[in-house]
Amino acid sequence: MPLNLFIIGPSGCGKSTQAKLIAQKYNLTHLSMGQLLRDEIAAKSGFGDEAKSYLDGGKLVPDDLIFDILISKLNSLNNQNFIIDGFPRVLNQGKYIEYYLKKINQPFSLLIHLSVTFEEINSRRSKKGDEFQDQDRTDNTPEAIKSRQQFYDDAIASIRDYFKSKKLFFDVDGNRPVEPIFEDICTKIDNIK
Ligand code: ADP
Repeated sequence: MPLNLFIIGPSGCGKSTQAKLIAQKYNLTHLSMGQLLRDEIAAKSGFGDEAKSYLDGGKLVPDDLIFDILISKLNSLNNQNFIIDGFPRVLNQGKYIEYYLKKINQPFSLLIHLSVTFEEINSRRSKKGDEFQDQDRTDNTPEAIKSRQQFYDDAIASIRDYFKSKKLFFDVDGNRPVEPIFEDICTKIDNIK
């Protein structure tokens, strides 16, 4: 059975760290939605040009653009054995991918939510050299960070309710060191396989 995973959480929660560990352990392709967008921008593609102002402002890139980029990437992986970090960010994206995978007979295995308080994120951010700081990013301004937090806050309850009702949602306490979080996630994944 293919394993198709999603991991979300507030900006700076450490989801890409977990996604990399999960990808390594379960032999999955790790896709970061934010990185896919940054790659498009770096390549100066039409998609990238369209996405740039949203990214820099910490705003959500419109769904149509997100779906075009993501689906073409998923197709190149035969739509299986992946972990996507930073998607879905709104319920509509979640419903879309659920329907898409169903239509092509692929599983939506689990949506992992790394739950981290804003106090914890801010304290990690203020520590210099922290793994969650990414100096190369053009969206590290206080305004963009605040905007990303707001979008997350607005969307998480509806995403949680919907996927919980389908038993496809796993809340994990992310206010802890990397290892215990990873262990909890692995225990959960091992139970769905
Ligand atoms: P962070 O974890 O700090 O939010 P990401 O690299 O995941 O960083 O995302 C960076 C930016 O890319 C977001 O602020 C947003 O503009 C855009 N983005 C990423 N994923 C999505 C998505 N699923 N839908 C819309 N926009 C997205």
